[in-house]
Amino acid sequence: MPTAIEEEVQQLPKLSNEEIARYSRHLILPEVGMEGQQKLKAAKVLCVGTGGLGAPLALYLTAAGVGTIGLIDFDVVDESNLQRQIIHSQSTVGMLKVDSAERMLKGLNKNVKVVKHNTMLTSANALEIFKDYDVIADGTDNFQTRYLVNDACVLTGKPNAYGSIFRFEGQASVFATEEGPCYRCLYPEPPPPGLVPSCAEGGVLGILPGLVGVIQATEVIKLILGIGEPLVGRLLLVDALGMNFRTLKLRKNPNCPACGTHEIKELIDYDQFCGIEKPTSVGPLEVSRDKAVADAAVVDGIPQISVEELKKKLDAKADIFVLDVREPHEYPIANLGAPLIPVGTIESRIGEIAGHKNDEVIVHCRSGARSQKAALALKAAGFTNVHNLTGGILAWAEKIDPSMPKY
Ligand SMILES: [Zn+2]
Repeated sequence: MPTAIEEEVQQLPKLSNEEIARYSRHLILPEVGMEGQQKLKAAKVLCVGTGGLGAPLALYLTAAGVGTIGLIDFDVVDESNLQRQIIHSQSTVGMLKVDSAERMLKGLNKNVKVVKHNTMLTSANALEIFKDYDVIADGTDNFQTRYLVNDACVLTGKPNAYGSIFRFEGQASVFATEEGPCYRCLYPEPPPPGLVPSCAEGGVLGILPGLVGVIQATEVIKLILGIGEPLVGRLLLVDALGMNFRTLKLRKNPNCPACGTHEIKELIDYDQFCGIEKPTSVGPLEVSRDKAVADAAVVDGIPQISVEELKKKLDAKADIFVLDVREPHEYPIANLGAPLIPVGTIESRIGEIAGHKNDEVIVHCRSGARSQKAALALKAAGFTNVHNLTGGILAWAEKIDPSMPKY
């Protein structure tokens, strides 16, 4: 009579001779061995996002022989992705990210099945998608999706190999295991909208998602193999500038509405939970927000002006005052020749532009979000005729001056 373990091993998929040769460095590790490699082959991992974190994740999981890799993304490859998203390449710019990623993964390991989900992860589809996978790897870049992934993992009982990055710092953990805490135990409430800038607004060192994504991939492999100590109940903090790695202990919160009291029984509206206005189009947070801003003539009492209208006013030598509120290091990349007062310093430097209090003031930044904040500050300081430039200098480069670089 075979033992239960022997029976389980017998049910695992067999490796071909080609696979045995390919994975030989794994096979000679006693902690992996034939059984471990077969477990990897049987495993199904969903990578949420094929961006900076998803790229190294999916590549290493594919190289390691994880049998089924799910990819979920709705975006297309953009040139500005290539500084860190190494799963895409110059030849796939403009292509759907899931198609571009599949091409790279198939080129790396033909034995791996790639399942493409060319869609935005939503409360309507997350549970249905997650149920087919063993481990979920969260490589998203916004809070709504992060809470969505967390709750869907808790509800479906799937571990979440989590990673996040910003500028030079990253975090990684394993959430939503039976014994460990979930993302909500650590962060019960999302930050107020706009408080934490996205990587598109704040920048990110291109190598950092590589570092953090590889940590996520390592955790995924350990979870599948059942070896080592996964980052359950621990938050790894990565500081790339100091090259320091610290680990914080995390406790499961008995009052956590997701994994403690289980009062969250179904997925909720995560835009609302994170205080985000309903997006008017499918797209990442900032795109939706910009689009929403573009669609409204007046936002929070600030009239919005298009780049076409600004161009007309400049050509007509209209009596306007244009103010750039980006950071000094952005100015040499592209500018409209306007004076620069970074949005964070506007309140303390308001005296410098007090003479324009009753002029028509047009505020611009890169994409229109920071300038909206600055316009509100100017209005609060008594400026009577403040406008926000919709789409910022990016829209100017797009629609008025194609020779201007976009960043
Ligand atoms: Zn929890």
